[in-house]
Amino acid sequence: MSSASRKDFSPFEIAMHNVDIAARTIKLNGDIVTLIKNPDRELKVELPLMREDGTLQVFTGYRVQHNNARGPFKGGIRYHHEVDLDEVRALAALMTWKTAIVSIPFGGAKGGITCDPRKLSQKELEQLTRLFTTGIDPIIGPNVDIPAPDVNTNAQVMAWFADEYSRRHGFSPACVTGKPVDLFGSYGREEATGRGVVMTYREAAKAFGIDMKAASVAVQGFGNVGSNTAKILSHMGGKIVAVSDVEGGIYNKKGLGVAELLNYVKKTKAVKDFPGSEPLTNEELLECSCDVLIPAALGGQVTKSNAPRIRAKLIVEGANEPLTYEADEILEAKGIHVVPDILANAGGVTVSYFEWAQNLQQFRWQEDRVNAELETIMVRAFDQVWKKTQEYKVPMRIGAYIVAVERVSKATALRGHH
Ligand code: NAD
Repeated sequence: MSSASRKDFSPFEIAMHNVDIAARTIKLNGDIVTLIKNPDRELKVELPLMREDGTLQVFTGYRVQHNNARGPFKGGIRYHHEVDLDEVRALAALMTWKTAIVSIPFGGAKGGITCDPRKLSQKELEQLTRLFTTGIDPIIGPNVDIPAPDVNTNAQVMAWFADEYSRRHGFSPACVTGKPVDLFGSYGREEATGRGVVMTYREAAKAFGIDMKAASVAVQGFGNVGSNTAKILSHMGGKIVAVSDVEGGIYNKKGLGVAELLNYVKKTKAVKDFPGSEPLTNEELLECSCDVLIPAALGGQVTKSNAPRIRAKLIVEGANEPLTYEADEILEAKGIHVVPDILANAGGVTVSYFEWAQNLQQFRWQEDRVNAELETIMVRAFDQVWKKTQEYKVPMRIGAYIVAVERVSKATALRGHH
């Protein structure tokens, strides 16, 4: 493929390109590769929402089920104005690889609604969630496909989802994960993705000889993943020098007081103007002077245009596909290590698995057990990816794809063709 057409790689094409490289590296050929690349099923639903002002607005929602060779489909639901079928498809595929890497019994799926939730009232958001649940009802269920939160959806949205599903099917808390702890959620789920990001950063720091106490860290995005990553990392003595959200970022080269920042954001809903910090834009955050960069907002943030200016030595991908394919190549040439999304942010789906298992057993785990089991799984996954990375002398992303492609193709072949 020429470099001219490479820049046009869509999110799904990036994910598939990585599968192709992994498959070639391990000499996996033929239709099995096609089978594990293509989504199993894609559903588009029309969502007619009666707005509070009495007007009708029609939204579009998607659910893509990518692969279920290793277990029921699993993946989050995103509410964002840029949601489209290709992005949902890419995110669904990433879930297939992610669940395989942490070796939990799920496949991959993703859903989304093209909408700007900031322009909807709580009541409208609830109604839209109920319409979406109804729309995808024919293809979901506790043993079929289990959604979870993603960008702009949270435990409250999952509670509405669980309620709407249960109205039709009876008591079924296992139909969705990321629910509130007061409504069949799991302790530790809210922080799980951030906790997993920090665990993989810690393992990568050991592997690459980075001193976590001395290293300065910049985090893009201060939602579920970004804020919990910053919180947990600062508890461990890490130095967070920059953070940002959709409205802009803040910087303090001596380190930001994360506990105070979390309280500040609770009141103001944004990080900007945090006392004792300098303002910086999201673009500047990515290029700021730091040792470790943790993108934890949206996809496609580091591109061929800003990759040459990235100063971090290590990137840990809290977000999904925050680097374009070209950026990946540029960073590799610069010797910047990348802990890939399908490993680094797999802590969320791992604790979602614990939540699902607890719901099915109607038994609750305490938080220390959740965190301890998460630790075991994340460290094992890191080690297995690291081994493949060394064995094949490839970037960690390809090492991770090799682990995933081997497991998914093996399960697919074992199931046979009927
Ligand atoms: P969220 O909605 O809780 O937070 C998103 C954050 O990104 C917010 O702080 C928002 O202000 C910020 N943001 C939005 N647009 C931005 C922009 N243009 N520039 C900078 N910041 C911007 O979402 P989340 O759940 O934290 O998800 C963040 C990323 O992590 C996504 O890529 C998601 O797919 C991925 N992820 C989430 C989970 C999970 O458990 N929630 C698990 C794995 C991966």
